[in-house]
Amino acid sequence: MSEYNWCHNPDCHKVETQSRVRGTGDNKVLRTRKIPLTSEYIRESIYAYFCNQNCLFQFLNKFRQEIANIRPVKQPSETPIKVKKVKSQDYRMRYNGNDYEKIPYTSTTMTIESK
Ligand SMILES: [Zn+2]
Repeated sequence: MSEYNWCHNPDCHKVETQSRVRGTGDNKVLRTRKIPLTSEYIRESIYAYFCNQNCLFQFLNKFRQEIANIRPVKQPSETPIKVKKVKSQDYRMRYNGNDYEKIPYTSTTMTIESK
């Protein structure tokens, strides 16, 4: 296993940052960023292949059709759930210009539980 990947954004080397400048004298270039795979967090994430969010989204925009074709979605999916509604009584405070008064209100909280 290699210890690094090159950023997979085909335009990574066109982004003008100091971290991409390589070479000496008049032979300087902007180079695709190298991604060290030293931490497990990087190795187990999308950032093993993209040097940052900007490069990731440039790639996603450029290859959106190919990406969508990897796993086409022709209809929506559904997850069975149970919905639990809980009514509760509470108060909000309102200033009437002289004093604060308690204004009661009822709220309904909806909780989604997995089946
Ligand atoms: Zn990049």
